[in-house]
Amino acid sequence: MPHYDLVIVGTGSGNSILDHRFADWKTAIVEKGVFGGTCLNVGCIPTKMFVHTADLAATPGHSARFGVDEELTGVRWRDIRDRIFGRIDPIAAGGREYRLHHEDNAGTTVYEGTGRFVGDKELAVSFDDGRATETITADRFVLAAGGRVAVPDVPGLADVPYHTSDTVMRLDELPERMVILGGGFIAAEFAHVFSALGVEVTVVVRSGAMLRREDTDISERFTALARDRFDVRLNTATTAVRATGSGVTVDLDGPDGPSSIEAGVLLVATGRRPNSDLLDVAKTGIDTTDGGFVRVDSHQRTGVDGIYALGDLSSTYELKHVANQEARVVQHNLLHPGEPIESDHRYVPHAVFGSPQIASVGITEREAEAQGLRYVTSTQDYAGIAYGWAMEDHSGFAKLIADPATGLLLGAHIIGPQAPTLLQPLIQAMSFGLDARSMAHGQYWIHPAMPELVENALLGLPLD
Ligand SMILES: Cc1cc2nc3c(=O)[nH]c(=O)nc-3n(C[C@H](O)[C@H](O)[C@H](O)COP(=O)(O)OP(=O)(O)OC[C@H]3O[C@@H](n4cnc5c(N)ncnc54)[C@H](O)[C@@H]3O)c2cc1C
Repeated sequence: MPHYDLVIVGTGSGNSILDHRFADWKTAIVEKGVFGGTCLNVGCIPTKMFVHTADLAATPGHSARFGVDEELTGVRWRDIRDRIFGRIDPIAAGGREYRLHHEDNAGTTVYEGTGRFVGDKELAVSFDDGRATETITADRFVLAAGGRVAVPDVPGLADVPYHTSDTVMRLDELPERMVILGGGFIAAEFAHVFSALGVEVTVVVRSGAMLRREDTDISERFTALARDRFDVRLNTATTAVRATGSGVTVDLDGPDGPSSIEAGVLLVATGRRPNSDLLDVAKTGIDTTDGGFVRVDSHQRTGVDGIYALGDLSSTYELKHVANQEARVVQHNLLHPGEPIESDHRYVPHAVFGSPQIASVGITEREAEAQGLRYVTSTQDYAGIAYGWAMEDHSGFAKLIADPATGLLLGAHIIGPQAPTLLQPLIQAMSFGLDARSMAHGQYWIHPAMPELVENALLGLPLD
């Protein structure tokens, strides 16, 4: 049975761990799918490439109010798709090739199969091509196996062709109509993409709002704007799905009673779950939470000596920048076990690249209330800054939540053009302990640029 100093399962953020400092280690990487993981192949990167393209397609729809009459004469879906994956697929292939054949990786064995624990630090790797299962052992493991689409229990779903985020970006043709189940960020982004490209989109949401984990003001504004653009069915259950003709019929039960929609494509975007079950982590003595996330401490150590976990397998944030940060922590702790460092999860930002965009860091007002904090808020509309006039934006805003005594920011939430870019200085302020007053007054703000949104929101905080 081959024994290694280190085995890494998963080539998303896990793939970034091995570098020249591990050249003397006997290492192995196990990957069951495409090299590079979710973000590169079916997640952050292709979705944002589609979103940017969708933004371009949506531009003529907004331009008349500027006195510029533009017309969208068509979208070439296959060209869009092939440009995006023509960029991504070679990167994934290059990553695989590097690990398999480059001299830097002479000490690394690549197992292109599915790993599953069968005993203490004993991993069985099975292969799709009929090769016999191989069992490997190691002193140390890094579990970076990510998560996968969680498919809801809807009667009939198993019997109809449906898409998930893993497949929908590779469609051969755009359908006339698409039904999207789910109201989270993946649903929001795909609704924007496909609608901007000319597909009639219906979004089916079980609860009363889209993006309901966001600050309530943000979620309400986003939902209202989405309802102007798509058919959004709130408080609606999907009761059954049936195959019909060239597509599917989705039976719904909502506030107005039962209804049905027929669509060429059904996209299921109701959530994801960690892959701890596929890995059978319990066999090596690793604990998981109720949601199936591998339990780790702040050093990314599981309860089993020498086994680390990171990213979507263990982190409820389910964000690439978090997985990357945790991979750097694991890398350091493998190399310097005597001086371990901790992951920093204090101010984890996220963004939703729908239309409008959303970005957020820190707590929501709901959380501030629930925690019984003394807090103040300030909201600045894009419509109240000069660049907002230039953009004719009437719906976006920045909302800040701060401690009135210290002026330190507790949360920042932006909905509107370039929200993730505008949020970054606020993340910086929170990370480095810069208070709102110093941030507003201690630097120039370029006039009349979009960051004046942030400046004015800071100035508007009613601090003590
Ligand atoms: C549609 C979509 C859009 C997203 N957009 C964003 C975004 O804009 N910004 C952002 O920060 N995050 C985004 N995310 C989330 C982001 O992609 C993930 O947080 C990130 O990729 C997690 O990295 P990871 O290394 O933990 O797991 P992954 O990248 O999922 O890597 C895990 C790897 O392990 C392999 N694997 C799993 N089980 C086994 C096994 N048993 N044996 C062998 N190999 C195994 C998998 O094949 C996979 O390659 C998005 C996700 C999706 C689905």
